[in-house]
Amino acid sequence: MTDVRETPSVRSARDSWGITESVGATALGVAAARAAETAQADPLIRDEFAFLLVSAAGPTWAQMAVSDPHWLGADADARRIHEISRNYQAVRTHYFDEYFSDVAHAGIRQVVILAAGLDSRAFRLDWPAGTTVFEIDQPKVLEYKTATLDAHGAVAKARYVPVPADLRDDWPAALVEAGFDPAQPTAWLAEGLLPYLPADAQDRLFELVGVNSAPGSRIAVEAFNMSPERYTEERRAQRRARGEQMRKQLDLDIDVDALMYTADDRADAAQWLSEHGWQVEAVPSADEMARLGRPAAEADLAEFGMDGVLMRARLDGERL
Ligand code: SAM
Repeated sequence: MTDVRETPSVRSARDSWGITESVGATALGVAAARAAETAQADPLIRDEFAFLLVSAAGPTWAQMAVSDPHWLGADADARRIHEISRNYQAVRTHYFDEYFSDVAHAGIRQVVILAAGLDSRAFRLDWPAGTTVFEIDQPKVLEYKTATLDAHGAVAKARYVPVPADLRDDWPAALVEAGFDPAQPTAWLAEGLLPYLPADAQDRLFELVGVNSAPGSRIAVEAFNMSPERYTEERRAQRRARGEQMRKQLDLDIDVDALMYTADDRADAAQWLSEHGWQVEAVPSADEMARLGRPAAEADLAEFGMDGVLMRARLDGERL
């Protein structure tokens, strides 16, 4: 029998999207959180391109990127959730910024950001001379991003190479075509990606990363707890009802749950990498949030799917 959780009804094996459509809109959502964090009095991270990249999608989206979520009105519960989500996004951004700083110090000069969305690290981090940042995402998402940054005269701080490709396809061919050198150690990133890939595409992604990783390569990954009991129809309906205020006020109908593949047989990313020769260091997101002074209750993080793990791994010996 087909598991109804495996294929969300709004997704299909060959689907593609622009920035305001389907999974593309999730890139606007997380960039809006970075913009809102950047606008706080004491921000944990600064992404000075986030507001620009979100607001270029139109005034409806721009509202999401301001410091105070005025569109939530006086709904205290919705405001609390919004704050937890902004804190979570700030903490994950901080974690992966630190990862890139470490890999740069370790001498790695080839970077691949998988599912880059509106990630602006190529433009905002201080990369050592000689660094190339490749970014893979859907063609229309990257077109929107590069057109927006170009229109505002943004200058990358590394050699910046967008690589339009579908991460369920033969993306390494497109990467090599764009100048990627598999013989050089690479620092990979998979942030905000895994739930949008079917379980078998996640395995394939990690396999292809491994095949294209010279010794000394690193990877950083955000992995979520995708336990099936939180994706029952009832729990989905509850989350949708809670988001009703946002949909009404903003006139945006985003149901992130419906975009994710929530099958129960997804490999645990840390375990998969360890079993394939990577040395993994993982931290529960809740611990990292507490460490950085943005604590959140475990129950809240679980309820809103932010109780995952942030990890980095290195491939020093043989890929298994
Ligand atoms: N990593 C970025 C960040 O954290 O700001 C973007 C994360 S956003 C939540 C998810 C991104 O994954 C979107 O930009 C989407 O286009 C991309 N994505 C998801 N599935 C993809 C696929 N099969 N091929 C290419 N890009 C994909």
